[in-house]
Amino acid sequence: MSDLTSNPKPTAGGWRWDHSYARLPGRLFARVNPEPVSEPRLVIFNRGLAEALGLDADQLDQPKAAGLFTGNQLPEGAWPLAQAYAGHQFGRFTILGDGRAILLGEHLTPRDERFDIQLKGPGRTPYSRGGDGRAALGPMLREFLISEAMHALGIPSTRSLAVAATGDPVFREETLPGAVLTRVAASHLRVGTFQWVAAHQDRELLQIVADYTLQRHYPDRLAASNPYVELLAGIVERQAALIAQWQLVGFVHGVMNTDNMALSGETIDFGPCAFLDAFDPGTVFSSIDYQGRYAYGNQPDIAVWNLSRFAETLLPLIHADSQHARELALKVLQEFGGQFRRHWLGGLRAKLGLHTEESDDEALIDDLLEWMAATRADFTRTFRGLTENGGVLAGNVDLAFRAWHERWRARIARQPQPLEEILGQMRRRNPAAIPRNHLVEAALVSATHGDLAPFRQLLSVLSAPYDDPPTGSDFIHPPPPETPPYRTFCGT
Ligand code: AMP
Ligand code: MG
Repeated sequence: MSDLTSNPKPTAGGWRWDHSYARLPGRLFARVNPEPVSEPRLVIFNRGLAEALGLDADQLDQPKAAGLFTGNQLPEGAWPLAQAYAGHQFGRFTILGDGRAILLGEHLTPRDERFDIQLKGPGRTPYSRGGDGRAALGPMLREFLISEAMHALGIPSTRSLAVAATGDPVFREETLPGAVLTRVAASHLRVGTFQWVAAHQDRELLQIVADYTLQRHYPDRLAASNPYVELLAGIVERQAALIAQWQLVGFVHGVMNTDNMALSGETIDFGPCAFLDAFDPGTVFSSIDYQGRYAYGNQPDIAVWNLSRFAETLLPLIHADSQHARELALKVLQEFGGQFRRHWLGGLRAKLGLHTEESDDEALIDDLLEWMAATRADFTRTFRGLTENGGVLAGNVDLAFRAWHERWRARIARQPQPLEEILGQMRRRNPAAIPRNHLVEAALVSATHGDLAPFRQLLSVLSAPYDDPPTGSDFIHPPPPETPPYRTFCGT
């Protein structure tokens, strides 16, 4: 088993590197250096995150440090590698690997929390297949913004430390400016990591990777009588909680391939993701998701599908008798539905300020969602709106909603807390600001033309999503009604 106990000395910038992943068997990765770029330039640096990680923000947030964030210079103590993995992409199994990402190592914070530090877009690796290993500035800024917004919403997510422009073009349908994102993650172990190991039918390696995953993310479960059933159970629990949180803010991941499901329970890979404006469970933003496989309303079912693929890889460790192993795994997978429903209902109860229990609560919730779907009500505004104006309906609303609102007001009036307190608690569960697609696009267009001010302003609003943005600002409004349906693109 790879050893996680170590006490590295800080190097320049405040990094404390360790390399537990690199101590695993060498088949799991390829040692590779980033390819130098022409003109590294730091576009954005996340000082708050740097400080939380115990890094020296003053030293790193400088033009002359830009080379660190494109891979031109390696921080002292880094040991760059690309990870091997496989995955089901839109249901089809493929051998993949980090084709445009390089892990520099694991940074240990002053409190010894361990985070992967990964460059995304640093050039080709042995897993690049036909790709260039590069990323464009717009999509990397988009990941920076949305991952930080998810974190501020309180949803487990990988985070973004920096985006640096490379000075080199990348060639997609058009020529775009290149950039590298520095991603911070609890780890990059994914369902696809285990699929890669399973595809090589190496039981010993499987056990090493399973033990490592337990040690890194579920250490409390190592001592269980069957730690591999417990590993599955832990991952199922975290995914059920995570997907419920996505649903509760209207987040559509967009590419829930098994290689994009992290075993830590963090949201990872912000390619074609987007947030709902109008509430419609069938919403799909990705231009390549023709079948609606990853539609908003399908996300819980897809999570179970992915977790089933994960469970299959673990069977040889779960029990020597394969039939019995299947039964044990199935029992754990069947827990997902109930767990998801508990998180989802609990979350909706909090969004509506329901703190006591009444028999009609579920009907109250269902009726609101049904009305929202029927009228394509704005998901975020509908909930946040309940907390405004002292809980009194304002403006023109349809009769069905007026009737629902009266029921809801009567319902919360039967609770002991004063109305203002209930509304205040609701404001902490119903964001005012989410990364609205039209705002994100406008900020990215400006940023790629060299004006970062709108991006920074949006980032700052999204960093406190439960606060009311400055009055008169556009941050909380849905897009104008004539806006065409939003589309996102993969492989950007
Ligand atoms: P994603 O859809 O971003 O999760 O990527 C799926 C797979 O394609 C991963 O193995 C990536 O490393 C790989 N990939 C995506 N873009 C590129 C690129 N520009 N060059 C090489 N590999 C890539
Ligand atoms: Mg991916």
